[in-house]
Amino acid sequence: MSVRVRFAPSPTGYLHVGGLRTALYNYLFAKHNNGKCILRIEDTDRTRFVENAQENLITSLRWAGIEFDESPEIGGEYGPYVQSERFDLYKKYGLQLIENGTAYYAFDTSEELNAMRERQQKAGIAPKYDRTVMRNEFTLGKDEAKRLVENGTPYVVRLKVPLTENIRFTDLIRGDVIVNGRDIDDQILLKSDGFPTYHLANVVDDHLMAITHVIRGEEWLPSTPKHVILYNAFGWECPTFAHLPLLLNKDKSKLSKRQGSVAVEDFKEQGYFKESFVNFVALLGWNPTSDREIFSMDELIEHFNLEKVNKSGAVFDIQKLEWMNSQYLKMLPLDYMAELLEPELKKYNFNNVNRDYLIKVINLLKERITFLKQVPVFGNYMFEKPANFEQEYLQKHWKDNTPEIIKPLVEQLNVVANWKHDDLYEATKKYVEANGLKLKDVIHPLRLMITGKSVGAGMFETMEILGKEECMERINSFLANYK
Ligand code: GLU
Repeated sequence: MSVRVRFAPSPTGYLHVGGLRTALYNYLFAKHNNGKCILRIEDTDRTRFVENAQENLITSLRWAGIEFDESPEIGGEYGPYVQSERFDLYKKYGLQLIENGTAYYAFDTSEELNAMRERQQKAGIAPKYDRTVMRNEFTLGKDEAKRLVENGTPYVVRLKVPLTENIRFTDLIRGDVIVNGRDIDDQILLKSDGFPTYHLANVVDDHLMAITHVIRGEEWLPSTPKHVILYNAFGWECPTFAHLPLLLNKDKSKLSKRQGSVAVEDFKEQGYFKESFVNFVALLGWNPTSDREIFSMDELIEHFNLEKVNKSGAVFDIQKLEWMNSQYLKMLPLDYMAELLEPELKKYNFNNVNRDYLIKVINLLKERITFLKQVPVFGNYMFEKPANFEQEYLQKHWKDNTPEIIKPLVEQLNVVANWKHDDLYEATKKYVEANGLKLKDVIHPLRLMITGKSVGAGMFETMEILGKEECMERINSFLANYK
């Protein structure tokens, strides 16, 4: 049997990192097993319709490098499957359950349902549809129910939960799950407007799309017994379930917007590489070995398995994500990073930066920053002459006697054979030794004159990349103002 999985988001407007993790695990599981991973948009709840939500989802998924099968928008031939385009189908299946006696009509108004809930609350019992007192096939009789439906009385279709049975399934992550039928609500399957609920549409589609493994977030675990009942009601085989652990804030509360970003597009905006973000997200609840953290997408595919997914919640540790990004900054091909950075440079009006030069600059600064987009900020002086000089740094390192010390050094640097790190360093070392100085006595003034800033990459590497002409121009213009 070949593996078929699906990512089935409801289009809420953006892709939540938990959603990305679900999509990623489905994708990795499918690829690892030479199976198929499809995208299904679960937009049955039309009251929650959000403009462009589907496009946003697809943009974020594509950015992360997750590809779906059978989907023209993402390279495949069909789909993505969109539930709102399949409404008639669900109705047909819902009514089929009425026919075979595993679902029933109910006619309660929302006032009646509210009154029921109030009664239950007062009595201190869990809110649950009480089929023995409400208006439905049980209390009205089958014939009367049929007559009401034919007369156009609004109705819903509810699942007839087998009250005396234990519902069992084995979850690949949680193990055996057993729930008593008495604890399961008679879920509405078709609403009074004829639209299906999530549960019906989800089960019908998973069956029709021949899904073998349902891999989704833990928040769907309580729905699964209802789904198992539905599969049984239809006489279909259940897929295998795997419920992924919750994502948690550092304080172990459920990951929420209030404690930081949760939308994938925000992380992209903040400057995370897709490679590091995907790597980080993959490790939220799964890790094949304790001592390895860095995995490319291909390596994730190679190593991924559901057996190593934890039951307990996974903490979303933003410091670790930043660390991960800095690792990728050191690792990713320079040419690739240069290409990513070019549009960013334009925002600072650093136009027409030569590609080879940019590569050298990235290579120079990559150990000192966390995000690629810090290059033009942290290292602005690699693209423009310093417009001002850090005042504190200036006061500390530009004393009355500094010009006397610096000018002869500049003359000697001006005649080094090669404007390269080693030669510049040797010449400077020779000069300080001959004059009873320390390297730092001259490095700080050089840094000040050339970059205007107290922090930066190694000074001689910086000078080499900037080039002799540029450095000399900066030094001379500084010396002209600070005599
Ligand atoms: N539409 C559900 C969601 O938004 C899908 C749950 C499932 O995968 O069954 O997460």
